[in-house]
Amino acid sequence: MKIKNDHNLDFALILANHGVSKTKFRINLLNLFYEKESLTVKEVMNKFSNLINKVTIYRALVSFEEKGLIHKVPSSNNIIRYSLCNSDECSASLHKHNHGHFICNNCNQTFCLENYKSPDIKPVDGFYINSLNLILEGYCKDCHLN
Ligand SMILES: [Zn+2]
Ligand SMILES: [Zn+2]
Ligand SMILES: [Zn+2]
Repeated sequence: MKIKNDHNLDFALILANHGVSKTKFRINLLNLFYEKESLTVKEVMNKFSNLINKVTIYRALVSFEEKGLIHKVPSSNNIIRYSLCNSDECSASLHKHNHGHFICNNCNQTFCLENYKSPDIKPVDGFYINSLNLILEGYCKDCHLN
């Protein structure tokens, strides 16, 4: 399950369970993903007040992605964003997604729609499909209400 804002979570243990080497920064980074729907490299840098260098951030994100902690999500401006994986579905050995993503046209945030599954499409006319993205756009709960 994707549990947000649960401060009883042991982030060091989650890193260890996914085989990700842990540092203070990585623990804080994982914590950040539990608080935000999705993050860009730039947003991560800003969150850490530019105290962590870009290479360290990139390495951590690549490692998190490889080990099934986060996944790339579509964005409004094609800048790479990452979101937390659902711990029921992803692990270091199996990391697969078929849920839809919602992009808010106002705040540009991307949300995982865990309950919207991509349709199961059979290969047609000799085309081999290895990726299918279900992307919905509109206004998120916060932006819709304001
Ligand atoms: Zn995943
Ligand atoms: Zn919004
Ligand atoms: Zn997602």
